[in-house]
Amino acid sequence: MKLASLNGAPEIFHTIQGEGKSLGMPSVFVRLSLCNLHCIWCDTDYTWNWKGTRFTHVRDNEPDYEKYEQDEMIITMDPESVANLVLRYDCPNIVLTGGEPLMQQDELTRLLSILRHQIPGLHVEIETNGTLKPQTSLADLIDQYNVSPKLANSNNKKSLRDKPEVMRYLASSVKSNFKFVVDGRDDLSEVLELVQNYSIPPRKVYLMPQGTSPETLKEKRSWLTDVCMENNFNFTDRMHIHLFGNKRSV
Ligand code: SF4
Repeated sequence: MKLASLNGAPEIFHTIQGEGKSLGMPSVFVRLSLCNLHCIWCDTDYTWNWKGTRFTHVRDNEPDYEKYEQDEMIITMDPESVANLVLRYDCPNIVLTGGEPLMQQDELTRLLSILRHQIPGLHVEIETNGTLKPQTSLADLIDQYNVSPKLANSNNKKSLRDKPEVMRYLASSVKSNFKFVVDGRDDLSEVLELVQNYSIPPRKVYLMPQGTSPETLKEKRSWLTDVCMENNFNFTDRMHIHLFGNKRSV
């Protein structure tokens, strides 16, 4: 499996889920590397923004920012070794995140098969951008899809970020909830269009402000909560930013 590397170690950590349906739940996060999209504001750009690629990121022109050396940011491990690292924590909620975890489905199937035998009452969440369909063997091992469809504000082409067959599959699954990252009011018509196109029940929709500082989140929260109330959507904050700041492995 290709995992995100932090200071030479795989990014597997125990924390409180900071976003979405399971906000507040103690969880073990397993962060996989690689993504099939390239969101311009991505806060896990170390999973894909490699030197030499043509993709742009809002930080590319900052003086203290450099695209990443791919070899330095990926650790390759077998699923058995990853399972052993997860089992260090006495925690039944696992969050598979990325990058885009569904790029590594065979490896995840093996990992979850091991963990299902080892952790009583295991609950598995997977975070996905909604463009890749899970294979049946993996889907059977997942309890919750945290789907985060990308909007035009991500700077990905529509043909890459909107995959109707995959979205129809996820929208029809009782395991799915949908988290939309809202940058500005201009994004709302697009969110409403997606919710309508895929018949997503409002109770499964979470609107989350885009931002990596408490100040930005506060400004957007002030109007986004009203939008949620008008549409019977859920609001979700980014609790980890308030608790820990914009840091990795928290
Ligand atoms: S889909 Fe997620 S991980 Fe991939 S570029 Fe977008 S925000 Fe980053």
